[in-house]
Amino acid sequence: MADASFDVVVVGGGHQGLIAANYMIRNGYTVGLFEQRRELGGGGCTESRPISGFIGNPCAHVAGLWASPVNQDFKLHERGLNYIFPPVHSSMVFPDERCIVSYRSISWDKETGLVVPQEEIVEKNINEVERISPRDAETLARWSAEGKIWQWGFAAMQVLWNPPALPGELDPIEALIVDPNSGIDRRHQFMTATEYVSDLFDSDELRAHSLRMLGSAGIYPDDAAPLPIMLSNVPMQVIGFGGGVYEGGTHNAIHALQRALSEEGGKFFVGADVDEILVENGRATGIKLADGTRIEAKKMVITSIVITQTLARHLHNVDLGPGGAEYRRKIAKIRTDRGQIFWGHIAFHELPEYKAAAWNPDCGDARWIFMGDADIEYLDREYRFNNQHIRPGQWPERLYLWEATDTKWDPRYAPPGKHVALLEEMAFPASWRTEAEWLQIKKEAPDHFLRQWQKYAPNMTWDNVIAANIDTPWDIMQRSDNFVDGNWGLIAGTPSQWGAMRPIPEFAQYQIPGIEDFWMASGSCHYSLGLTGWAGYNCYKRIAQKHDLWKPWEGRLF
Ligand SMILES: Cc1cc2nc3c(=O)[nH]c(=O)nc-3n(C[C@H](O)[C@H](O)[C@H](O)COP(=O)(O)OP(=O)(O)OC[C@H]3O[C@@H](n4cnc5c(N)ncnc54)[C@H](O)[C@@H]3O)c2cc1C
Repeated sequence: MADASFDVVVVGGGHQGLIAANYMIRNGYTVGLFEQRRELGGGGCTESRPISGFIGNPCAHVAGLWASPVNQDFKLHERGLNYIFPPVHSSMVFPDERCIVSYRSISWDKETGLVVPQEEIVEKNINEVERISPRDAETLARWSAEGKIWQWGFAAMQVLWNPPALPGELDPIEALIVDPNSGIDRRHQFMTATEYVSDLFDSDELRAHSLRMLGSAGIYPDDAAPLPIMLSNVPMQVIGFGGGVYEGGTHNAIHALQRALSEEGGKFFVGADVDEILVENGRATGIKLADGTRIEAKKMVITSIVITQTLARHLHNVDLGPGGAEYRRKIAKIRTDRGQIFWGHIAFHELPEYKAAAWNPDCGDARWIFMGDADIEYLDREYRFNNQHIRPGQWPERLYLWEATDTKWDPRYAPPGKHVALLEEMAFPASWRTEAEWLQIKKEAPDHFLRQWQKYAPNMTWDNVIAANIDTPWDIMQRSDNFVDGNWGLIAGTPSQWGAMRPIPEFAQYQIPGIEDFWMASGSCHYSLGLTGWAGYNCYKRIAQKHDLWKPWEGRLF
């Protein structure tokens, strides 16, 4: 006999679990959500960082969730979730004191989710590129005039906000590839990131900027990357169609989703470590917690846990039918070795003074500031090698840091007059070093990062610093079983683990063949580029189609 019973049981209290739970409760089901940690949120959290008095986001920070229809479906802005969109979207500063600055050239209506381009700012961004490379500016102006940048961005959005195509269907990107007028070269889908940006742009500055942005998506220059991610890079770079800032910290996204759920009567339980998904006669019937508590699911179980844990732990006792051995073999071989980063916070007194401000005074006001040389050969051949060989006392000469000083837009992050920046740099799987080595690397990291930063902003010395904490992949792995080997993307986002092949083709429609009423809304299904809500929303789309539930997307774009 079960200790408690709900129509729908959700496993995992990160944003994907909360999104799925919110859609289910809108259909009149009773919902119980079970979270292992002592608080909801998973990678959607905000903590005191790097020192008391300051706050920082130890995981998701760039707010991609703003573009999600869940904002409108659950009126999250009325429940405490607001985004800030700094007008200067991104900049890449080079050691020769030049820079590329791009301004946000879209407006967004939080009530309707409507995005409207601002052509005059697109033109301004192209003019900025012209100062660096007239040929690249010409190319971008042509793509803009022909509407190609929007067409590519829109196709990428369609792919991301819908479940993967069913066998035999063409997804919007595949449709572009076969369209001779789309401007997409069929070769692009098989190119490495370096090959791709080299084909698009003539200048090494634009190429380096693009490659560094792709790095934040878990793609190294010599990786082949999923085409939708490459395609959305140009709109991000030139149109400023990217993430904003979560006002008051990322945890406000989680609080808003939890409020929406609780207001409808949904129940959530923290400190509830789910040990097993119960399957009887080929149907998911509930869960068992590590303390032995059994929860009945009258209609279905939805999990938001990474697929590797789902199979190895939650379903380890379950007979997966004739294909079971093959499914387990494939999942055991899933790659998790992309998406590892150094991710830390530095609190300081005075804002960085970039040398490149002489080229464009706005460069230091960007929401994303990338720093590095326009050296494509180094990026392609040595950057990854050097980063992956970091050891105690052994650091590369040249890094490609990214910084975001949120106190420029949101005073809540620091005491009055003080600042805190987030810093990111690429890394490698946690299991490649021992704990002792990672502890030493963590100790050395702030000094190395500051030395890099000083090349571009000389006032970023220790005299200006109040405190620093840089998390390594080891720290990230300790936070959650979901960040496998310290990977923020849960599993790697390589083309073979993407879209209709993620995590494996047999599971790509959010279900395991042979288990009825069991759905998977984890970012390890379809695609997750972070706290974007794609998996939770798209999994619900398939549930709604199957059970004829609420379909808020009818009559709108996504
Ligand atoms: C360092 C870092 C930086 C990042 N930066 C960004 C960024 O800037 N922008 C962005 O959009 N994304 C970013 N991300 C990624 C983002 O945080 C994740 O993609 C996102 O949190 C995944 O959401 P989720 O709901 O699928 O999983 P999670 O957020 O991991 O939530 C899953 C939940 O399930 C719980 N759980 C696990 N096992 C069990 C169990 N057995 N029983 C019960 N509960 C369980 C976990 O505790 C967790 O709360 C970053 C991540 C990291 C680590």
